[in-house]
Amino acid sequence: MIAICAAFAAATAVTGVTHVARIASSPDPLPTAAAAAGGVLVGWAVADAASAVYHWALDNYGSETTPVWGAQIAGFQGHHDQPFTIVQRAPCNNLYRSCVPALPQMVGLAVVGCVSLASGDAGGAGAGVVAAQSAYAAFLVGVVGAQQFHQWAHAVKGVPPLALAAARARLIVSRKAHGRHHVSPYGGVYGMVSGWFNAPADRFELWRHAEVAVWHLRGVEPICWKLDGRLRERAFDIAGGRRPEE
Ligand SMILES: [Zn+2]
Ligand SMILES: [Zn+2]
Repeated sequence: MIAICAAFAAATAVTGVTHVARIASSPDPLPTAAAAAGGVLVGWAVADAASAVYHWALDNYGSETTPVWGAQIAGFQGHHDQPFTIVQRAPCNNLYRSCVPALPQMVGLAVVGCVSLASGDAGGAGAGVVAAQSAYAAFLVGVVGAQQFHQWAHAVKGVPPLALAAARARLIVSRKAHGRHHVSPYGGVYGMVSGWFNAPADRFELWRHAEVAVWHLRGVEPICWKLDGRLRERAFDIAGGRRPEE
């Protein structure tokens, strides 16, 4: 567990250092740095959207007997009844499951950066390439870090000052923002990285549209409809189409 987390942290550090070196040796360092910063923001935003979709799916569909995902589904759905147990987990216990698929991808980015530096072509990559790789790296850090940010959003003490500052700056999801999710029927505010996706997703009722689409495709109702029938009514009011009882 610890080895996987440490390897991911090391690969992330190498990727970051090689990116900075490539930007510094670029013929146009300022525009390249601006493109990289833009890439990081895009990757961070996409990671939040991905965390929200994943959270919505596991909160609302399946059970502990579902193949492959059963343990995670039980963890997500059980978290609503016992939200503070997440605080008791060690960081690596929280993060290693996400590190497993992300590690080879981050190692790949680190290798690309090292090869670029070793070949003396550090400044050869265009701003677009650097921006795309920065976005990819930020996405991986975001999806791996989501459960840690989630833990900090529940912790009443022991949160690092940097994490508190990041939450205040809305770079990671805050206690207040995530607290809005923890109200039955748990039908919104699913983003667990920065929370940037929550306002547009909830404003445009993305989850209700998605739930009606799933019902039409598979005939399955989400758990949030079962917890509060008004959500089901709302979903069919805005998405239209045939209702379950029809
Ligand atoms: Zn939830
Ligand atoms: Zn929570």
